[in-house]
Amino acid sequence: MGKQTKRSGVPAAPRRMGGRTRPRGPLADDARPARSRRPRPAWAAAEAERRRLYNLFLQAPAPVVLLRGPEHVIELANPPALQVWGRTAGDVVGKPILDALPEVRGQGIKELLDRVYTTGQAHHGTELRVQLDRAGDGRLADEYFTFVYEPTRDAAGTVTGVMVIAFVVTNQVLARHAVEESEQRLEGALAAGFVGTWLWDIPRDVLKADALLAQLFGLDPEQAAAGLPLTVYVAMIHPDDRPRVERLIAAAIATGQPYEAEYRVTGGDNRLRWVVARGHVTYDADGTPLTFPGALADITERKRTEEALRQKQEQLQIALAASETGTFRWNPRTGEFLEFDANLKRLFGFAPDEPVRVTEDFIARVHPDDLPALLPAVDRCRRGADFEMEYRVVLPDGTVRWLYDRGKMERDAAGRPTCLVGACTDITRRKEQEAAAREAAERLRFLAETIPQKVFTATPAGDVDYFNPQWMEYTGLPFAQIRDWGWTQFIHPDDVAGNVRAWRHSIATGEPFQFEHRFRRADGVYRWHLSRALPMKDDQGRIIKWFGANTDIDDQKRALQEKDDFISIAAHELKTPVTGIKAYTQLLQRRFRRRGDTEAADQLAKLDAQLNKLTRLIGELLDVTKIEAGRLPLHEESFDFDALVGEIVEDVQPTTERHRIVVEGATGRQIRADRERIGQVLTNLLSNAIKYSPTADRIVVHLAVDGPGVVVGVQDFGVGIAKDEQAKVFERFYRARGGDRETFPGLGLGLFITADIVRRHGGEIWLESEPGAGSTFCFRLPIAPAVGRRQKPPSAALAPVP
Ligand code: ADP
Repeated sequence: MGKQTKRSGVPAAPRRMGGRTRPRGPLADDARPARSRRPRPAWAAAEAERRRLYNLFLQAPAPVVLLRGPEHVIELANPPALQVWGRTAGDVVGKPILDALPEVRGQGIKELLDRVYTTGQAHHGTELRVQLDRAGDGRLADEYFTFVYEPTRDAAGTVTGVMVIAFVVTNQVLARHAVEESEQRLEGALAAGFVGTWLWDIPRDVLKADALLAQLFGLDPEQAAAGLPLTVYVAMIHPDDRPRVERLIAAAIATGQPYEAEYRVTGGDNRLRWVVARGHVTYDADGTPLTFPGALADITERKRTEEALRQKQEQLQIALAASETGTFRWNPRTGEFLEFDANLKRLFGFAPDEPVRVTEDFIARVHPDDLPALLPAVDRCRRGADFEMEYRVVLPDGTVRWLYDRGKMERDAAGRPTCLVGACTDITRRKEQEAAAREAAERLRFLAETIPQKVFTATPAGDVDYFNPQWMEYTGLPFAQIRDWGWTQFIHPDDVAGNVRAWRHSIATGEPFQFEHRFRRADGVYRWHLSRALPMKDDQGRIIKWFGANTDIDDQKRALQEKDDFISIAAHELKTPVTGIKAYTQLLQRRFRRRGDTEAADQLAKLDAQLNKLTRLIGELLDVTKIEAGRLPLHEESFDFDALVGEIVEDVQPTTERHRIVVEGATGRQIRADRERIGQVLTNLLSNAIKYSPTADRIVVHLAVDGPGVVVGVQDFGVGIAKDEQAKVFERFYRARGGDRETFPGLGLGLFITADIVRRHGGEIWLESEPGAGSTFCFRLPIAPAVGRRQKPPSAALAPVP
């Protein structure tokens, strides 16, 4: 409370007189006789002066005290000082200050005096609080002083005491405190929302309001205190609220009922505030309205909170409605619904105005099949349990709806259940989806278990996590033994490595898996299977599962083998007589020519050409069976590649009358390869070029060296091949769609053999083609052979042949 840490004290004699102040001047009230001195003229004058000063001190309107020595013995205390202390001069003079005023001990005054006394420094203090026992009854009262402690000195300048001059400022300080307190109270009141009062003299239309109300209405407080007409106040009310407030005032006057209005006003700070005003009208004996006093509270904050709450509730309602959720409150003791909101009524198929009062009303809608579970649960709630259940309700129109209902029990202080607060959500769709998913899964399982094929699924890491029962039946092994990577145990030892490699490749790249391999049956017999697996991916393209099927192709393989065997035998059997016929044809041809029968000779030449075609077909059939059996031998030798090309072109050229075969470029390379088989490759490509460009007149053979290989391109300007078929033409028996099979006879074997020969030389073959514009079949052969090695195609645009 003390504003100052500086302590008040007793002023020393001011310097202006200090020089002359006698250190040991008799400091007592005037009733006290001074010590006798020898009257001397100089002393006498001094003594007179001193007296004058004493009298001055004594008459000073403010407390003045002179203290002497280190104990601060009171030498003089003028009447105002004595008065404020509540002491007489006899009580205090001649006593050290703490003896005279024991109650100030511990209030820091002695310490302050000590400091002034020892340092000789004056001390000024403001509004220091000192507690004094003025009535002498031990009760302390606050007094406030603004003061100066001034050291007094002797002629030598040594401090001899302290003079205190003080002003009692108790009243001012207390008054200010009162103002501060009331300000604080007002702040508190403002914070609490109470802001103003008014009194309206109705007959004279003078409305007096306090400063706070005036401020709230943006009016001059003095004018408001003096009184203003009602209209001045009303004008400050928000226009939207004004008519309503005016009506309420009129009604209050007319009816005498209490007045209460909530409305907005624009205050002096131009801020819009919500207030609530309450008041009542008084009347005289005749019933004439006299006064209308009232009070007003600022409820802006409350309104804001209310508004925020309302918005939150609205959002909640929207969210609940959107999520098909309704809420309820239920009294477990009486079984009454304290609330069954509109959403919930809709979920249960009640009309909005239909009352849902008690447990039975809601139970009536529950599906009979779910009652055996629901009723005991409701009973448990009556005893205080929470509730959680999925059940069906049957709506009046017969619709069945699934609900998820969950309630939490509220309890009173004693722990007794008071209210079950809960929410119900429509989960019909979820239930339907679940059922559909279950059904779909069932269907799939049924399918997987009934198809003759073996199927499996695997994790993204390649661990097999499902085999259909056909697998267990086939292998005679339990699922636990073949799951994950356990299946490798029944793969034919020759196929395991390739299989694992291909499977790992697919897992790493996500490329479809396809592999032909042999699986061991329970009886130990291996059967050929074709296995395929495809990855299932999520939205982000991540693999979530592999689905695979394994088809037993053993019978087909066997049939194919038998066919191959038959073709092989048939081709062999055909070859001998055809060779014989050819020999006789040539013999006859020569004989006719010698005899000059040119016509017959020419006819025999045509027969010979047909025989050549037949021989080639038989040769193809033989080659294919050899390839299938892995028995197509290569006889490598070194030869001049360009010379071979020239030779073949020369051989093939006579088979066409339309086309001219042109060789462009050269390799200038000796290569090491099977000369005859490479010749066969060139013959095949040239024959196809002729066959599939019946209206063109030109075929170009391009020769080039590309790094470690020679590259040949056989270009025709014929029918071309559709994009989607380009890779397939190298397959066995594949014949492209388009085109007329009659026009282009063939077995679909030539390119299969051609590709096999090229690849077995470590080369590669590819093609570029545009339907209607022609095709270019290219192949590359390594100059020094590296059997089994494959190289990349020269351009990304050219698809490598698998
Ligand atoms: P085929 O005996 O049918 O000619 P091939 O294996 O030589 O058998 O060719 C396979 C298929 O590729 C042919 O049926 C044909 O449709 C297509 N084909 C081959 N060469 C050409 C080419 N130069 N132009 C257009 N299509 C061709």
